[in-house]
Amino acid sequence: MPTIIDKLSDALHLHSHQSTFDSKVTVIFVLGGPGAGKGTQCARLVEDFSFSHLSAGDLLRAEQHREGSEYGQLIQTCIKEGSIVPMEVTVKLLENAMTATLAERRSGEGWTDGRGRFLIDGFPRKMDQAEKFEHDVGKATAVLFFSTTQEVMLDRLLERGKTSGREDDNVESIKKRFNTYKEQTMPVIEHYEKLGKVIEIDSSVSIEEVHQKTRSAVAKLLSGSTT
Ligand code: ADP
Ligand code: AMP
Repeated sequence: MPTIIDKLSDALHLHSHQSTFDSKVTVIFVLGGPGAGKGTQCARLVEDFSFSHLSAGDLLRAEQHREGSEYGQLIQTCIKEGSIVPMEVTVKLLENAMTATLAERRSGEGWTDGRGRFLIDGFPRKMDQAEKFEHDVGKATAVLFFSTTQEVMLDRLLERGKTSGREDDNVESIKKRFNTYKEQTMPVIEHYEKLGKVIEIDSSVSIEEVHQKTRSAVAKLLSGSTT
């Protein structure tokens, strides 16, 4: 069954029918506990390598506030409770965002001839999402895993909570988010570890130090891929 990327590419005549998604579009999943520094590092990688950065959390918050959305209430409850928003909603939002980005036919490093490179941040947080994405959209090249202690993450989230305005940057929600991470997301990371796709980066150190390590890991990864 053709993936959405195949269909889109065909529609736009971006490449021949035989071309596979994997050879044209690089997808890197970005995982780590809440507050590990995923969003911060993704923003840096966008500058380094012209990635399109899609944050599952940001897409869900945008959908929550979109006028007329039938999922607003559901998303709000899940976010407050630190639970996983059903994959039908989350994967669809990501698919739509990827489709829209590819349709822009961006130019520049990694984006010529129908190619593209995406950082999918905060996804997949549960095994069913990983399976659905790989079936409907395509396979990830690698998983960037930012690891640090719960103590560091708690400090960062509480600090961020002073200005973020987020409904889930408070102790009660954070505890629930840690549980969800341990129970649902760690198995996803273990799954990709078995496949040899995980690049683990200790994110306990400064933003700059984490960035340097991440940049060199990603440079190595991209030099080995076709984009
Ligand atoms: P995530 O996307 O993983 O939830 P963020 O990137 O939003 O995490 O980072 C959480 C908070 O911690 C933000 O306020 C950010 O500025 C801060 N932060 C991120 N990385 C570091 C770091 N290496 N050292 C100190 N603070 C950091
Ligand atoms: P984040 O912005 O990554 O901290 O995510 C905030 C919240 O959005 C999470 O606690 C979940 O409730 C929801 N969320 C983010 N990413 C996903 C995902 N991949 N699947 C389901 N829910 C998600």
